[in-house]
Amino acid sequence: MSNLLELNDLHVSYGKTAALHGVSMTVRAGEVVALIGANGAGKSTTLRAISGLLRPTRGDIVFDGRPIGGMEAHRIVGLGIAQSPEERHVWPAMSVYENLTLGAYLCRQKAEVDKRVGVVYHRFPRLKERHRQLAGTLSGGEQQMLAIGRALMSEPRLLLLDEPSLGLSPRMAEEVFEFVREINQHGVTVLLVEQNVHNALSVASRAYVFETGRVVAERDAAGLLEDPGLLSAYLGG
Ligand code: ATP
Repeated sequence: MSNLLELNDLHVSYGKTAALHGVSMTVRAGEVVALIGANGAGKSTTLRAISGLLRPTRGDIVFDGRPIGGMEAHRIVGLGIAQSPEERHVWPAMSVYENLTLGAYLCRQKAEVDKRVGVVYHRFPRLKERHRQLAGTLSGGEQQMLAIGRALMSEPRLLLLDEPSLGLSPRMAEEVFEFVREINQHGVTVLLVEQNVHNALSVASRAYVFETGRVVAERDAAGLLEDPGLLSAYLGG
């Protein structure tokens, strides 16, 4: 498999405070890769740099052979990367359908937008049933589905998911991970940040372990799952 995404020696700062100190990693086309590590280790910052919300101070981000570090976020969406943000940012006073159409803001033909909505509804029938319902009245899990569905509306090749199970019941979280699996089976490569390490490793093939702004290990997900001692050593108990 070829590399769809490469980070080489990525440095990112918030003002004067450095958050990433030289992160290097690769994601191959078709993979699900998890970023794990303690709070504040730099996982979300890495996703934000890839999606163009933060500008790296040093290093490269290469997507499908093209350098994208520091490119404007909407151009990055246009190239095929979509991010579903950490808190489920749905528009509460808009319907499920309207929220989805906002995810295809780069597409101007209504027929094409509706076709994509149809694809999302086919994959998430629960959203279809709630077509006209206001997003603010959906359950937490449904809002998370909607946020992921909206990210899929730009037809990304790479989907960045930040904490998709945040605030969900274990059952709902499992459902969301089942969706992630399905999305991946339909050809979308996924880079996932997740506090629920067990869920993350059960859907991912590989994981990068972050510690204070650095990658300290790269492991096969199944291997990590089978070695709780190693996992707790990485995650600080
Ligand atoms: P978490 O799971 O808690 O979100 P994380 O591994 O995703 O952790 P980041 O959110 O990437 O970690 O944070 C990395 C570092 O950057 C932390 O020290 C954090 O305090 C800092 N940081 C994150 N966002 C900001 C911000 N908007 N302004 C200033 N510092 C920030």
